[in-house]
Amino acid sequence: MGPPWTRYYLKIADMKIAFHGAAQTVTGSKHLVTLKNGKKILLDCGMFQGMGRDTEAMNRDMGFDAREVDVMILSHAHIDHSGLIPKLVGDGFNGKIFCTPATKTLTAILLEDSAEIQESDAKFSNKKRAQQHLPYQEPLYTSADAERALEMLVPVEYGQWANVIEGVEVMFTDAGHIIGSACVHLKINENGKLLRLSFSGDIGRYRDVILKSPDVFPQADYILMESTYGNSLHDPGDSTPELLLKWIRDVISKKGKLILPAFSVGRTQEILFALNQLELENTLPDIDYYVDSPLSIEATSVVKSYPSYFNRNIQQIMKTDNDPFAFRGLKYVKTVEQSKQLNYLNGPMVIISASGMADAGRVKHHISNTIENSRNSIVFTGYCEPRSLGGRLLAGAKEVGIYGVDHQVNAEIGSIRSMSAHGDYEDLSQWLSCQDPKLVKKLFLVHGEPDVQGEFKKRLLKKGFPDIMIPERHFEIGLD
Ligand SMILES: [Zn+2]
Repeated sequence: MGPPWTRYYLKIADMKIAFHGAAQTVTGSKHLVTLKNGKKILLDCGMFQGMGRDTEAMNRDMGFDAREVDVMILSHAHIDHSGLIPKLVGDGFNGKIFCTPATKTLTAILLEDSAEIQESDAKFSNKKRAQQHLPYQEPLYTSADAERALEMLVPVEYGQWANVIEGVEVMFTDAGHIIGSACVHLKINENGKLLRLSFSGDIGRYRDVILKSPDVFPQADYILMESTYGNSLHDPGDSTPELLLKWIRDVISKKGKLILPAFSVGRTQEILFALNQLELENTLPDIDYYVDSPLSIEATSVVKSYPSYFNRNIQQIMKTDNDPFAFRGLKYVKTVEQSKQLNYLNGPMVIISASGMADAGRVKHHISNTIENSRNSIVFTGYCEPRSLGGRLLAGAKEVGIYGVDHQVNAEIGSIRSMSAHGDYEDLSQWLSCQDPKLVKKLFLVHGEPDVQGEFKKRLLKKGFPDIMIPERHFEIGLD
């Protein structure tokens, strides 16, 4: 139940939707649909990331009772959409979780990894708490919770209607965002009345280098739509391989290290594909390229195992190059010891490591080791939440704290915006172009920063969508 003022909108018997995450922010995707008969369907169960000191508390209190959720639907594997599933299970959820087959495979490796992080973070913070005589705090979830969660995943192929619960069917369409990513479409039949609700998940780009374009979908009555880049156009100028080449040549001249923070799933493969392109064109500089993340290594092999999800461009390349994610000089770093060894090696070299916002993972160590030396460059390849380490560096911070130590920012900081896995406003508009705006009773903008969402709302009003809402976290509203 939301705060008292939200109930103003509700009639007792209404179907309802509540926005428990990715509401005026870009992480923590979580939307709860309550049917007239009281059954509850959860769309995504994502973790909040990079929200500073609030992150922990926001992840501990999801805003609803996990035991009351009957069924869950997962749009894609990214942790900001899937990361709290083990907590949901640990808190008593015991239903099915529908997703695409590739999402099932990717989610398995991401959640196992995330559970290990939760356990080791809890160990670390409990040591500190013990020194301060504070009580022991359980980890957000454990590997056992993650294992149980993975048993609940039910794969459904794109384009097929599947029964999720009495009176409710789901169909996935390709969202073009990462391998297996889906837009979620619900047909809800109650008391002889049909309601169609579509949830975009994260929308990719039309004409992506690897993935197929986002697919069209049936007319919806209600739409929940991401709006990360609702106010901007991606740079159509230089291509990703060219931009990467510039940065690589620059660190070669400085004999430095080029650090590329990248999401394990999606961005890492896109960088590898771009470097492979340079090799095919005979322009790839002959230096060492390290992928320093066990998760990224696993994710790359999962991505390779779903070639039928690739677009025609890459399938064409694969006719002559059977591994479009591998090239001369590429080295995979698995162990922590090998990762630490990189600190003692001299450049030039390229290190690709997770996480993308540099808030966690091995890349955070590489940044703390390289940031004070002007020979090095740190180049972000995706969206960074403003409060994350990546966000602060991109905003021009002259000094940043990493693991409790202050560092002068002397390395060059940059970003390659051409690489976003999220569509820009033209992509988002194109995604909506299969809909008759007048038939959409309400369009909810989720997964975006408020100022961006405000601008996007104005654009959509001009396109004829009559009712657009930008809900706050825990806001609940009736659907009829
Ligand atoms: Zn995503």
